[in-house]
Amino acid sequence: MTTMTTLNHTTNEKGEFYLPKLEYAYDALEPYIDAQTMELHYSKHHQTYITKLNAALESAPELKKLSVEELVSDLSKVPESIQGAVRNHGGGHANHCLFWSVIFSEGKGGKPSQTLHSEIDRAFGTYDAFVEKLNTATVGVFGSGWGWLSLDKSGKLIVETTPNQDSPLTRSNIPLIGIDVWEHAYYLKYQNKRPDYVSNFFKVINWNDVNYRYEAALKQIKG
Ligand code: MN
Repeated sequence: MTTMTTLNHTTNEKGEFYLPKLEYAYDALEPYIDAQTMELHYSKHHQTYITKLNAALESAPELKKLSVEELVSDLSKVPESIQGAVRNHGGGHANHCLFWSVIFSEGKGGKPSQTLHSEIDRAFGTYDAFVEKLNTATVGVFGSGWGWLSLDKSGKLIVETTPNQDSPLTRSNIPLIGIDVWEHAYYLKYQNKRPDYVSNFFKVINWNDVNYRYEAALKQIKG
């Protein structure tokens, strides 16, 4: 298990949210996700969400004791003047932290645990039907957003999409896999061919990470 499999991203000793360390090289996901996209996506796009989140929270420093996942889980805790910024940039930070840890190069990503595999079968019929459902939903996101495999409040696996940088946590769902379909995630290599990017994404899923998230989410739901 890499240390990227952290479920709650808190601030550092300076009271600032920060970019989690990437546990693999930018070219580790070639040829499915190219090194240049990885570098820009991680060091520029993700960093910008963090910088803007930190700036927004300057007016509400008491919120910095929460993890970013806790912040986006309950936006009612956030003053109205910065709710939009926390939704967008906090969501961006939380979503990308998950993204880097649920991808890894082909052949090193394990497979769904027996428990998760049978839950996938129960929720979607078969594993292939699950892939088809997540693939279709994600390709169909209008504009910028994400496709997700999530666990809902009742403990059921669901496929959902969110617009912009909204997190499933804001809907009380727990994200297990997130596919970023903002153009910054794929345009350099795939241009307008979003379906090719999404189908290749399934080759870089780090199932060891997803299995861990699933077990943790089940525990959280059962309290
Ligand atoms: Mn992104």
